[in-house]
Amino acid sequence: MATRILIPTPLRPFTGQQRAVSAEGRTVGELLQQLTMDHVELRPHLFGPDGRLRSFVNVYVNDEDIRYLQREGTPVTDRDTVSIVPSVAGGAPATAAPAASELPALTNEEVQRYSRHLIMPEVGVDGQRRLKAARVLCVGAGGLGAPASLYLTAAGVGTLGLVDFDVVDVSNLQRQVLYSTSDVGRSKLAAARARLTGLNPGVNVVVHEAALTSANALGIIREYDVVVDGADNFPTRYLVNDACVLTGKPNAYGSIFRFDGQASVFGAPGGPCYRCLYPEPPPPGLVPSCAEGGVLGVLPGIVGTIQATEAIKLIIGVGETLVGRLLLFDALHMTFRTLKLQRDPDCPVCGDSPTIRELIDYEQFCGVPAASAAGSAAQPGEGETTVEDLRARLDAKAPVWILDVREPREFEICRIPGSTLIPLGELPKRLAEIPQGAAAPEIVVHCKSGARSAKAVRLLAEHGITNAKNLKGGILEWINRIDPSLPRY
Ligand SMILES: [Zn+2]
Repeated sequence: MATRILIPTPLRPFTGQQRAVSAEGRTVGELLQQLTMDHVELRPHLFGPDGRLRSFVNVYVNDEDIRYLQREGTPVTDRDTVSIVPSVAGGAPATAAPAASELPALTNEEVQRYSRHLIMPEVGVDGQRRLKAARVLCVGAGGLGAPASLYLTAAGVGTLGLVDFDVVDVSNLQRQVLYSTSDVGRSKLAAARARLTGLNPGVNVVVHEAALTSANALGIIREYDVVVDGADNFPTRYLVNDACVLTGKPNAYGSIFRFDGQASVFGAPGGPCYRCLYPEPPPPGLVPSCAEGGVLGVLPGIVGTIQATEAIKLIIGVGETLVGRLLLFDALHMTFRTLKLQRDPDCPVCGDSPTIRELIDYEQFCGVPAASAAGSAAQPGEGETTVEDLRARLDAKAPVWILDVREPREFEICRIPGSTLIPLGELPKRLAEIPQGAAAPEIVVHCKSGARSAKAVRLLAEHGITNAKNLKGGILEWINRIDPSLPRY
């Protein structure tokens, strides 16, 4: 009796790129044991050292979360479909809805501009006035924030806040449709405000040119009715989640990776939050970011537009939102699925006896910096070396063995001369290729920006190879400071 198990994109490298595999077993636990015997490399991604299923991996039987069935003892048959859903690096009226008499009136120009909304029974003049009164905050003006802010502005949301601190990079233009080639090098928020105000001068675009932090998040989020989470890293995701729960603001969540998207609405009254779904973040480096793993340019367009749709429904108070459901979108096979989510009564932030009552240190909680701090000129930490040091050692012809743990496609784009490529995922079974012994040169490990190589250095140390150092800032820092002739990606 074989049951089908759907494998998400981030885990497919460990199943020979198969999207679905079959395994034998009477319960979910037996199936997962069989699965990880058939695909041994999958095991550390699903199970912790204590043999328990990792908390950032959720398992569903059909559309039910096994945590609310019989966990790993949940029985399965060959008619069931089991899904593995790991976390990846974005109703009722949203808040106390104003009475109709308190809503702002529409001008004649606005009646004309929004006429396609006004003639819909679900929106109408009342709904459009609710949009005009609404304040929506987009956290991040990147891949998800771009389409979300464009559609929310076009739809006539009265106040649109944007939080970001980046400048437009040429590699953003493949998906961040808010920006033009002429914006490269410009502050994202300055470019975004110009574009959005041009699209709809009636919308008050408020820019918060800063990183969202535990110090400023509550103050910023309190000013808004609905949050659209377009963060690209785990610390900011947990920060946005907790701040939304603590301030009682619903959060239209979206996330993207390669061809896969997720969307939901968290923090709505009675509904689950992101921590109910993923109580803990994955360890640093286990789940690649879009900068490391790539993303189809259209994907954030679709997911960000879904987030804008949910925000609008929350404001108008129509339809059925994604509260209590997780939408999974697979662009490669063009499928949409929804899984049921429940509020966890033991959730540390939205549960019945919450233990988190104020914002915490999210970088520490996730073990990674929120912003791409890699590449700063700070002193190297223990076990790290700098690009200047590597350059000096190469110039002096000192013995050094450079290990590149990126993927072959990245190696084709650019490489440090003399480096050897062993992708991080292949490292455990290719340790014999690493020079070892008393006469072995020091090893310098690098990836794109330093996260994967830090993991590789730890992995080498676990196998007794202790003369390896992580190249701080990775090849991007090498390009920035040593060889600007190489292409950045
Ligand atoms: Zn929760």
